[in-house]
Amino acid sequence: MRPRVYITRRIPEKGLNKIREFYDVEIWSEYFPPPKDIILQKVENVDALVTLLTDPIDADVLNRGKKLRIISQYAVGFDNIDIETATRLGIYVTNTPGVLANAVADLTWALILSITRRIVEADKFVRTGSWEASKTGWHPTMMLGMELRGKTLGIIGLGKIGSEVAKKAKCFGMSVIYYSRRRRKELEEEYGLRYVGLETLLRESDVVSIHVPLTKETESMIGEKELKLMKRTAYLINTSRGRVIDEKALVKALREKWIAGAALDVFWNEPLPKNHPLTKLDNVVLTPHIGSATNETREKMAEMVAENLIAFYKGEIPPNLVNKEVIKIREPGF
Ligand code: NAP
Repeated sequence: MRPRVYITRRIPEKGLNKIREFYDVEIWSEYFPPPKDIILQKVENVDALVTLLTDPIDADVLNRGKKLRIISQYAVGFDNIDIETATRLGIYVTNTPGVLANAVADLTWALILSITRRIVEADKFVRTGSWEASKTGWHPTMMLGMELRGKTLGIIGLGKIGSEVAKKAKCFGMSVIYYSRRRRKELEEEYGLRYVGLETLLRESDVVSIHVPLTKETESMIGEKELKLMKRTAYLINTSRGRVIDEKALVKALREKWIAGAALDVFWNEPLPKNHPLTKLDNVVLTPHIGSATNETREKMAEMVAENLIAFYKGEIPPNLVNKEVIKIREPGF
């Protein structure tokens, strides 16, 4: 009998077709995520799951999946999955690292430019007629922003995405400092980076960009104390996970101008409610978690999801195994 996989959203066909060669596939076809009771119901009868970061794969779901052997996550982040329980139950968890680093780094730079050059504010200025009302086509002080050349970029978390962001900084003439769990001397040399402590990074940077995963250690790592260390002229960019920043403290910092602005792709609760305090502020740019949202990247992610499932089917260790300790508990394969 072929193994069965439940896929919680329609991912690009290229990946689906590869999966169909080895698995019987069922897909949740709505735009919104399957409610938890549907996941609980489906997991009872499948050998594999393909999940998204919007699916809460907690102990309830994992314990219900008596036949469940592998979860192939369509994302690099996996903070929606209870990894400890999965490992204990001998369930393999895989992700899609690397293939999305360039797209997320591009979006990070788009956000840096948008907030420092006030692109969203300027677009609104034109569309709402404020430009026309100003009675001038050009003014020496109209929409002034911050120039990037000669400024300091501070990267928190120098992994795959953080290092892509660092690489692209050269084009803008910025010097780059970073703080990460471990020093990356080879990258320091290659991209001309300087390793500093978190406090120094916050004090010295003109732009701070966050690229750590969401873990117990990184949750709310940027709070009131850290925001107060930043320059009043500095900008904060977050394309990692919303919960890495204490959002209430950030709103206060933006309202009271402790920092110049922020550009955010990720939030505590997604989708961000229309009336959230962040939506009322002018010194912030907001995007709806679109870091990896390019056709090219989403296709590569789908292929990687398939490759992980297929390797497991063949009894091989999947190339992007997250919980490596699981190998000691159960061999790969059905
Ligand atoms: P990665 O290669 O694992 O890089 C994460 C980096 O953060 C690593 O260098 C890691 O250190 C470091 N780190 C981990 N915990 C830390 C801590 N407590 N303090 C300081 N540094 C710490 O992951 P990635 O591919 O760059 O992705 C990073 C995150 O971006 C993902 O986890 C995900 O949440 C987010 N993301 C968002 C989008 C989006 O659409 N906005 C898209 C993709 C990813 P080590 O080198 O020691 O592991």
